Amino acid sequence: MSPAERLNRISEQGLCVGCGLCQAIAGPDRVRVEMTPNGYERPVIVGDIEHATVDEIYDACPGVRVEGLPAGLVDPSTRHDNVWGAYRRVVRAFASDPDIRHRASTGGVLTALGIYLLQSKRVNFILQVTTSKEFPTGGKRHLSFSQVDVIEASGSRYGPAAPLVELDTVLDCAEPFAFIGKPCDVAAVRNYARHDKRVDELCRYQLVMVCGGYMEPKAMRRFLEEFGVPMDDLSALRYRGFGCPGPTRMETKDGRVVERNYLDFWGEDESAWSLPFRCNVCPDGIGEAADIAAADTWPGGSPTWEGQDDDLGTNALIARTAAGLELMEAAAAAGAITIENDITMCDMSDYQPHQVTKKYMAWARYAGLRASGQLFPQTQRLRIRELALENGLAQNLRQAKRTKKRVQHGRNCEPTPVALVAEDASQ
Ligand SMILES: Cc1cc2nc3c(=O)[nH]c(=O)nc-3n(C[C@H](O)[C@H](O)[C@H](O)COP(=O)(O)OP(=O)(O)OC[C@H]3O[C@@H](n4cnc5c(N)ncnc54)[C@H](O)[C@@H]3O)c2cc1C
Ligand code: SF4
Ligand code: SF4
Repeated sequence: MSPAERLNRISEQGLCVGCGLCQAIAGPDRVRVEMTPNGYERPVIVGDIEHATVDEIYDACPGVRVEGLPAGLVDPSTRHDNVWGAYRRVVRAFASDPDIRHRASTGGVLTALGIYLLQSKRVNFILQVTTSKEFPTGGKRHLSFSQVDVIEASGSRYGPAAPLVELDTVLDCAEPFAFIGKPCDVAAVRNYARHDKRVDELCRYQLVMVCGGYMEPKAMRRFLEEFGVPMDDLSALRYRGFGCPGPTRMETKDGRVVERNYLDFWGEDESAWSLPFRCNVCPDGIGEAADIAAADTWPGGSPTWEGQDDDLGTNALIARTAAGLELMEAAAAAGAITIENDITMCDMSDYQPHQVTKKYMAWARYAGLRASGQLFPQTQRLRIRELALENGLAQNLRQAKRTKKRVQHGRNCEPTPVALVAEDASQ
């Protein structure tokens, strides 16, 4: 198999998360992570690539390698939960500034922590995802140097975004920074730290949102059309925020505004979700390798139609590392965030039942992928085999068979990535 075929296999077998790291590793003259005709950001090979580079990509790519918290960040004061991983403290909290709390995705803690990191001069900038005018359903990588930048980036984007495309040039800046992203993005950063020691020196904090996955692009297109907004007419999209969860707001190029309820978008339970294949088999949507993970706090995992107007937004916040705990407590002492009370991992499981299910099912799903001759994510320190043993044989067999069937039906298949513009030009 050629180096190009090996790299393409990650996308073709539905495992690419579109983080952008392989572009930073190979260089943009060889690999460009960009929008492809199926609506995903995928690595498009544009130059000669060698096996050694592809080996390095396989070692760092979060599509195929996901690990828990690095051993060096665990010490005797670390607590452990078999589902929720390593942690030091878990609380309910929100941004103390009511405007940030209102505008942000949940209670605004990620935004408030980002601003606090800049204002306290702990870091010089935040690497994160902000709104994209070019592809309003997704987001684009951004370096935030000010409070205004971080507030502009607030909110959840349930579409493709590639925050790590230029991680190499970000590291070349040789300045301390923080990263805010999805758990798979942080898995990529931690993996890459094995290859480039500047990551641990310069990336001082890694913060994540707990993540159940984003919307498949074709389902997104269907959703927009259902509400009279063809994808090509869309100029801006806010999935949630300005309330908790707040309305899903679509703006068109001719100035129309269409608003729908968050529950119209995601539905009331996970059976209605339409996720990329890799998200369905994700072994870590809970950000096990991050310093801090932030989540929603709706009991049962979803808002209710009735409760939405009164919900000001409150996050669950898991501090996993010493740095994360110190940051959380310093930000609270400085008045950037307000801690309501400590909670337990049972509360987390109540808020995030879909994450619990995924964690228990991941190992059996990989057995199904393995039996089908497919790639599957290599994991360490995520306890997925241990959790699968609690399921019982019948349940694991059922999951493995279901995954095999999905593979037989091509549910994990994606075309070889080509650039969107290249394909358009050839039509
Ligand atoms: C794809 C996705 C899936 C999610 N799934 C869950 C879930 O299963 N359970 C749950 O509790 N909550 C989920 N959330 C929402 C998440 O809980 C909230 O974003 C989190 O609680 C933080 O809230 P906040 O108010 O502190 O965020 P904010 O202060 O609004 O900050 C949000 C941060 O997320 C970053 N961001 C937004 N979209 C992306 C993206 N696509 N990629 C990388 N970074 C991004 C922004 O740059 C910003 O820094 C999901 C969000 C996303 C984007
Ligand atoms: S997951 Fe990231 S590193 Fe892996 S192939 Fe996709 S864009 Fe590249
Ligand atoms: S579910 Fe997993 S793979 Fe999908 S976006 Fe979230 S963290 Fe990444």
